[in-house]
Amino acid sequence: QNKSANWFKQVAQRAETLGQQRLRVGVTGLSGAGKTTFITSLINQLENHGKGLLARRAPFDRLESVRWQRENVEQPFPYLDALAALSSVPARWPDSTSDLSRVVIDLRFRPQGLLRKVQPVRQVRIDILDYPGEWLLDLPLLQLDYGQWCEQMAQWLEQEPRRSLAGELRQTLLNIDPAAPADAAQLAALKDAWTEFLLRCRRDAGLSRNQPARFLQPGSGVAEQMLQFIPLLRANRHSSESDSSWFSVCAARFNYYRDYLVRGFYDEHFRHLDQQVLLVDMLGPMDAGEAALADLRDAMEAVLSSFDYGRSGLLARLLRFRPRIRRLAFCATKVDKVSPEQQRSVQQCLEDLMLDRLADVRHGGVEVLGLPLSAIRATRQEGENLVAGLEGQEGWVRYRPGSIPAHLPQSLQLNSPELLPLRPPPGLHRSEPFPHYRMDDLVAWLIEGAQL
Ligand code: GDP
Repeated sequence: QNKSANWFKQVAQRAETLGQQRLRVGVTGLSGAGKTTFITSLINQLENHGKGLLARRAPFDRLESVRWQRENVEQPFPYLDALAALSSVPARWPDSTSDLSRVVIDLRFRPQGLLRKVQPVRQVRIDILDYPGEWLLDLPLLQLDYGQWCEQMAQWLEQEPRRSLAGELRQTLLNIDPAAPADAAQLAALKDAWTEFLLRCRRDAGLSRNQPARFLQPGSGVAEQMLQFIPLLRANRHSSESDSSWFSVCAARFNYYRDYLVRGFYDEHFRHLDQQVLLVDMLGPMDAGEAALADLRDAMEAVLSSFDYGRSGLLARLLRFRPRIRRLAFCATKVDKVSPEQQRSVQQCLEDLMLDRLADVRHGGVEVLGLPLSAIRATRQEGENLVAGLEGQEGWVRYRPGSIPAHLPQSLQLNSPELLPLRPPPGLHRSEPFPHYRMDDLVAWLIEGAQL
């Protein structure tokens, strides 16, 4: 009796595991791209699958239950905090992503077809890893030594707008003799000054390539002392190390940064992902102008190198493993800020900006979906106008978004669209699907990765 009970149990367990699939999804984008808002909306859309646009589309019409895991998740995504901000009065946007975080969602689907009576229910577990896209910008560091990195930074600082943004810091760094004994207090002050410079690049000039990325987004578990290094602008690949010189102190920490932080992220996290959502705030740089667009292009090219498997195994060599991501959703975010007819153009401009690199990624075997998204729609359309509330103000404004070209001009020069700081729409509640643009398409794309 006992034996057969065991046997039944084993069969049942086997059916469960056969029925259960896992989708490991990365969600990333540069700071402010909209990751936190996106993940909050994604969980919300799934939790309310029976009510929103998902209810009517396959395979969600067979979705029986959705459970967002509250316990036993390491570094959980702060879903409840995000909901609290969005549903407060007045509504606030949730705090941005500054570290990696995780979401685990279990879905149960009814089986379909003739055998549905005898088949087990289909279970899908979606594991989401949310991480700052800036961390991917550090990939090129894997092929540099410290001296080469110094050369590169010296080049960047010679050109505008970084030259002006750096101001006196550039001269100070040029004045340091790499072979002289390092001064710990001065190094700490200079590291802070470098971090401030990176902040100015991001905030004042809309620049995206700000290295080392973890100076702005350290993440948890990084000893502050290990981040104490700066580029010595007079150093180069031929500089040599001598005891406790500026060069050797900075080089040792650079090596730690490169080998433990940068490589560590790829080894521990990135290598397990099989699908990736990459969010891009295209409207901000379109508004900020040519330099910001050019920098976004360079930054996204650097980010996309992590998904470019085509080039003679360079990536596999750098990473020392073969990445498994085979599907990439590449999305312009916050497109509710422009009119519905303009949304595809925003996505088109983004894809024009990234034309070559996207072709490389596709050529390397990754299937790319381009989708303009709004995770939470803050505007309403009224004729030619959009109506929305402004952050920090009461009442409503009615405005007409500026023009968006059908294609991005090669010169990257355009009339900037009218962009306003919008507050989230009022009345958001966890038990109702949030208003959005195309989140249902995105969720459907995610699930296509599973066999149901
Ligand atoms: P993260 O840094 O990538 O996590 O970005 P967040 O999700 O924090 O988004 C940054 C800011 O962009 C938010 O505070 C909002 O102001 C804005 N935002 C994000 N998503 C949307 C959206 O769908 N529509 C609108 N209008 N604004 C958005």
